[in-house]
Amino acid sequence: MSIKIAIVTGANKGIGEGIVLHLAKQYKGDQKFLIYLTSRSEDLGKATLEKIRAELGSKYPNSEVDYHQLDVTKQSSIDKLAEYLKAKHGNQCVDILVNNAGWASKGPKVDYEIAKRTIGTNYYGLKNVTFTILPLMKMCGRIINISSTSGKLKILSPELQKKYSDPNLTVEELDKLQDTFINAVKDNTFEQLGYPAQTYGVSKVGVIALTKILARDYRHDPHNLFFAALCPGWIRTDMAGPRATGTIDEGVQTPVYLALTDESRVTSNSGEFWTRKTIDIW
Ligand code: NDP
Repeated sequence: MSIKIAIVTGANKGIGEGIVLHLAKQYKGDQKFLIYLTSRSEDLGKATLEKIRAELGSKYPNSEVDYHQLDVTKQSSIDKLAEYLKAKHGNQCVDILVNNAGWASKGPKVDYEIAKRTIGTNYYGLKNVTFTILPLMKMCGRIINISSTSGKLKILSPELQKKYSDPNLTVEELDKLQDTFINAVKDNTFEQLGYPAQTYGVSKVGVIALTKILARDYRHDPHNLFFAALCPGWIRTDMAGPRATGTIDEGVQTPVYLALTDESRVTSNSGEFWTRKTIDIW
């Protein structure tokens, strides 16, 4: 009997950890459901795996959680995960990819090294994981990208809003827009070019733009893939800090809904940006 497989990135803590736990708890199917908890630190990820397995106990017999290392900023690490999945489960084995891993500076918001790291993790890391895992996606596979309301178009100048939301935008052109921001931070010309003093926001605008490009480019693909970007809310984690108003259980609601809800409810809306389980304006 075939099994259902999900991958969650950056799942050793925070919202990613919560997504793994709730996918396992909320899954109601008859097939076995195998969720890969992935993290860049193997020690931290395996400790979280044990914690989740202890919490699940034997109450969810169709759900199983396993571990694989994944640093989204290292193509060699992404390739190792893909090779492992192919060897263990065959060529088209992945049903759900939740691109959750993310990074935000707690210090200055616009600095060249910080811009490289933030866009490198949140945009390029997510993009590279997606393009490597896409060939492994099964029929009706779902790619769920954690973005943020900080990635709304309004943070950009009107000219840049047009460029990022151009319905004919390609991935290469989007890469250029993201790289232009990084270089403009170095030259301190980002404001002249219409970018905000918000590196994290620019990285998350890129995530939503990429989600829309993929939905458009894959709309005639016979696999009938579904792409979504979402904001989990303002959630108390190491990233958002103790003042954030939402709990992790609240933060996982939208991604888990998009990953597990009946196909008829979501799949005709590929490429949208979601908050609180509903489609939001970008
Ligand atoms: P946390 O800082 O608690 O968790 C971030 C996770 O991403 C950690 O597991 C971290 O691993 C991982 N990560 C960072 N860099 C990499 C990498 N190179 N490879 C693999 N994993 C990596 O933050 P949250 O749980 O709050 O954030 C989860 C997602 O939700 C992020 O994409 C974030 O931008 C988004 N988000 C969060 C909001 C909030 O209010 N909390 C609001 C809007 C969006 P490590 O422990 O090794 O650093």
